[in-house]
Order: sequence, then structure tokens, then C-alpha cells
Amino acid sequence: MQKLSVVVTALLLLSSLVYSQEKHEAHKETARQILDAALGEMKGYKILGELCEMGPRLSGSDNSIKAIRWAENKMHELGFDRVELQPVMVPHWVRGPVESLTVSSGAEKGRKLAITALGRSIGTKEEGITAGVIEVKTLEELRNIGDKALGKIVFLNGQFDPTVTNTFSGYGRAVTHRALGAIETGKAGGVATLIRSVTTRYDNVPHTGSMRPYAAAIKKVPGAALGQIDADYLSKAIKKDPNLKLTLKLSCKTLPDAQSYNVIADLIGTEKPDEYVLVSGHFDSWDVGDGAHDDAAGCIQALEALEIFKRLNIRPKRTLRCVFFMNEENGIKGALEYARVTEEKGINHIAAIESDRGAFTPRGFSVDADSAIIAQMQPWLPILRMASIDWVRKGGSGVDVGQLRTAVSRIGFVPDSQRYFDYHHSANDVYEAVHPREFEMGAAAITILAYLLTEEGLQY
Ligand SMILES: [Zn+2]
Repeated sequence: MQKLSVVVTALLLLSSLVYSQEKHEAHKETARQILDAALGEMKGYKILGELCEMGPRLSGSDNSIKAIRWAENKMHELGFDRVELQPVMVPHWVRGPVESLTVSSGAEKGRKLAITALGRSIGTKEEGITAGVIEVKTLEELRNIGDKALGKIVFLNGQFDPTVTNTFSGYGRAVTHRALGAIETGKAGGVATLIRSVTTRYDNVPHTGSMRPYAAAIKKVPGAALGQIDADYLSKAIKKDPNLKLTLKLSCKTLPDAQSYNVIADLIGTEKPDEYVLVSGHFDSWDVGDGAHDDAAGCIQALEALEIFKRLNIRPKRTLRCVFFMNEENGIKGALEYARVTEEKGINHIAAIESDRGAFTPRGFSVDADSAIIAQMQPWLPILRMASIDWVRKGGSGVDVGQLRTAVSRIGFVPDSQRYFDYHHSANDVYEAVHPREFEMGAAAITILAYLLTEEGLQY
């Protein structure tokens, strides 16, 4: 009896292996069709063009609401099974019309420097702030500055380290100046903070982004970023004339929180509709450029995953869900609300994928899950390689899906990182900056992974 059951088990195992190999071949065939659909028709890239044409989508702005309505209509038009707007209140910071930094002493008096206010910054009074300026290279230097920054504009001239090969690591270090510069300047008795833009590109286009919320007990001072060329100019000008004065005028301010929405669409699973595979990006952007790479591209890659399923007439076994999260840039309120509703309703996400690192050539998928879960994805690598994915390994996922603590796996799509910060949070981030093949290769990679997950599921 025991012998027989061993034989039966062995046979079952063998047949499952044979079956897997057959399935593997069938999946490869489907992956080929997905690639052909993405690269052959470029439909997602065209839809990305429609979205970018509408302009930026800063949280709380009228334009963001217009874009949300457009997304809702687009999802209906594409024939997805369910489309939903999930209400969420978001911060509402506005730049306002006035934004200038002017040299106000010496031979070059009147010279304008290229700046952009940092998100969450307060504005200045109407006549602006006129003060001397002191340059520091690091936050550490600023923390130990004694009384030398009293009454001065602090110029944090820190470099984005060009020797770090993964630009996200370089960004992680340099961005502390943007996040904490105003707070540290307030502590040191300064009157405003200027940072060198956090970017890998040498031009004079300033890059915005969020500052950490002001701390209650510390004097609030405004913050802005300088274009790289003008940061170098200013550094030299201060060395020539240590008494140089600048005038900073900003009209940015924070309005009361505004009504906004996450946009959600589903293709309902035919076999296990209660198991969800989520593909996503964040729908809000900064208000300079069109937020094309960051993160219209990620959203439309997610949208295209569902659209390719429809186009190829693939009915997913598990529910394939697309989410456009609102307010990643300055609050992550959309992701927090989505996670709250998920827990309240007990929605079972077996995987939550986010694309928010630009639409460049695919490299890998970074998975935040138990090692046993990640091991289950390894046999798929030969299929994912067809879309230029070299690895699936343990690591961080994305800011939005990272909030979904109950998901079995949280996954970040990782494209090549070399050019992302050339565009990120700046007027450089427009539709033309997105390469159609690279964008579609990413869309195909995400669609193939979503397909494998909806077909095979994960044992957890
Ligand atoms: Zn982003």
C-alpha cells in the first residue's frame, strides 16, 4: 500500500513537471504575443501622449481632476469590467505666479537666477526676502554653523555624487538637502534656503520636489532649488563677493486639503476573482513639465497591461487590477487610503506591482516578500527575459504599493536608472523625453509578469 502511494506520488510529481513544461511553453507563446502587441502597435505610448497633452497633475489642482475624469473615461472606453473612483482628501499646495531670485548687489545687480520653489514651501512677503547668502556643502556643516547663518539665505550646494552607479542611491543621499534644508536653515536662524537641484543632468533647469513638513517649534523659512548652472554661478559669485545680496520672491502657499481620487479598474478573474494582482503607478505629478516619466508613464504601462489582456482576449484567472494612486509626491494620501480600504474589506492582493522609476529599458523586478515567495517567481525568468528583464530579486518595491502591508508580495518595476534624474520633477519631464520602445518594453515586462501571476498564482 505504502509502495503504491509512493509510486502514485512520484507519477503525480512527474506529470506535474511535464505539465509545467508544457505550460511554460504556452506561457512563452503568450509572452511573445504580449511583446508583439506592445511593440507592434505602441497603443500605450499613444495614450501616454493624450495624458501628457493635458499638462501636469499636481495633487489638488483642477488639472489633476480633469486628468482623473479622462482616466475614468478611458478605462470605460477600453471596456474594463469595473471602473471606480476612490475618494481621498489630498494636500493642496500651489506655486502661485511669482517665483524669482535676483542678484541685488554688486556689479551683476538685477541678474535673475533659475529657481523653482520646493513643494510644501511657504511663500515670501510680497517685496521678497533680501539678504546676504552663505554657502554650505552638507547638512552637517549647516548644523555646526554657529551664528554665521543668522539672518542669511543658506545655499546648500551639495553634489549628486556622479560616481554612484545606481542613480537611485545617489538620489537617496542628495535628496536629504531638499527634504531637510529649510528645517535646518530655520534652526540655524537663516531666512531662506536654496539648494542645488537634485539631478544628474548639467543644465539650468531647476528640479522641484517635496520638503519635509515644517516642524512646529522651528521658524518656517521658504525653500527653492537652483538650476545647476546658476548654482555654480552663485558659488563663484559668493567667493568673489562674500557680501553679495540676493532677493527671493515666492508666492507659493498651502490651501486647505482638496477632494481627489484614486482611479481603479479591474478585469475580473475567471477562476479566483478574490485573488488580486495589482499593477499601478501614481497619477499625481509635480507642476513643472508634464510628469511624463514621473509617473504618467508608470500609470499608462499599468493601464496597458489590462488593455493588452483585452486586445489579446486573455481572460485572467485571478482579478487583474490597475490603480492610479493619487498624491505620491506630497503626502501619499491615495496609497494610505487604498491600503486602509484594502484592510477594511479584506481584499487579498497576491501581488502589487508599481512602476515609478521612469519608462526606461527594463532591468528587473525588485520584490518585497518572503524568500519562499520570490523563489516561486524564479522559473519565470526565461519568459521575463524576453522583455529584457534580467533578474527578480528581494528588495524594495514602490512608495505606494509599499503601504500594502497585507499583500503577499509588493513588487517594483526596475528599469535602467541612468537618465531618470535628468528629467525627474522638472520641466524636462515631457512626453518627448519618453522613448516609445523603452516605454513599451516596460509595459510588456509588467504585462507578462501580471499574466504569469494571474495564471499561476503564488503559494503562501
Ligand atoms: Zn514618482
